[in-house]
Amino acid sequence: MTGKNKFATIIVSGGSGERMNSSIPKQYLPLNNKMVVEHTIEAFANHPEIGKIFLVVAKDAERFVKDIPNIHIVYGGKTRQESVRNGLREAVKNGDIENILIHDAVRPFVSKNIIDNVITSLKEGNKAVIPAIKISDTIKESDGNNIIRTLDREKLYSVQTPQGFKLDSIIELHEKFKKESFSDDSLLFENANMEVKITEGSKNNFKITTEEDMAQAEKMFPQSLENRIGQGYDVHAFEEGDGIILCGIKIPYHRKLKGHSDADVAWHALTDAILGAIGEGDIGEHFSDKDDRWRGHDSIEFLKHAYALAKEKGFVIINADITIICEEPKLFEHKKDMRKSTSLALGIDEQRINIKATTTEKMGFLGRKEGIAAQAIANLAYK
Ligand code: MG
Repeated sequence: MTGKNKFATIIVSGGSGERMNSSIPKQYLPLNNKMVVEHTIEAFANHPEIGKIFLVVAKDAERFVKDIPNIHIVYGGKTRQESVRNGLREAVKNGDIENILIHDAVRPFVSKNIIDNVITSLKEGNKAVIPAIKISDTIKESDGNNIIRTLDREKLYSVQTPQGFKLDSIIELHEKFKKESFSDDSLLFENANMEVKITEGSKNNFKITTEEDMAQAEKMFPQSLENRIGQGYDVHAFEEGDGIILCGIKIPYHRKLKGHSDADVAWHALTDAILGAIGEGDIGEHFSDKDDRWRGHDSIEFLKHAYALAKEKGFVIINADITIICEEPKLFEHKKDMRKSTSLALGIDEQRINIKATTTEKMGFLGRKEGIAAQAIANLAYK
């Protein structure tokens, strides 16, 4: 694959100085069902122009990352600088890498856009490129007790990673300044009086170093942990007729249920449960009996529409449970068909649907056989 390694990445995930037994470094903590470092790796692995990914890790952290696909593990050194140098030497050994992007493992929210900006700038011939954002806070210098002066915010930037470099230039500087210590790779270019270009970073591309940062990172997946429950309740009265419809199944009876459409009280309750789970009001708001659009429609349309809305928002039904309450007709022999028909209407497994039937022991309006009530609960999850 010619050109595939024009742009490779070194992800710096720790060095040999780290003590794993005290506390697990942030990059190996779970975040939305993956380790922080896995999100970071994915951002680069999914980028069409990024070739090899070198992950620099402390030797005793290898157990965290050994099963991650598509990465080349490199052992870190005593300092960040040494760790990067180990990664660079490995990249050079590869032979065909022209540019290298060096990135912190604890910046999992690096976007395609930020990577694009760095790559574009390198393509334009720049040898060192760093993403940066303007500082919005006023920055003051202090001696620890008092303010000494206020800095000119217009000239100040907060810098991020990935920092992009021509591989031959950065390795040369790393080897040359091996004895000196520097906190950031672009500083080498500054020391050598070489140009460092800035590109646009993003506030979202923040570094997770504190507990507070970790909490902020979790908020970046607002719905991922969400499980939603909704409940629905509906009642329809009997009137003259020749059978009722429950969960789309026609059940012989000497009366029918009153209502516009097919008066499927069970599916109305389920529709309301789904709408409830996704915060979409109630069935009356969506399918008003005054709205000609829905006049004469079967309840399957309401149910399907409600679930389509849920899916549009990224939710799927985990399970739904319906209770139908009436004295008559007897529903025992129809429950199986109702379950099947509900599962088909929603396009979900029958095992995820449950239908129950009960009476009120002849008490109240249901006991007097004036109508049928139904309750439903729907459990939805963000996928
Ligand atoms: Mg109704």
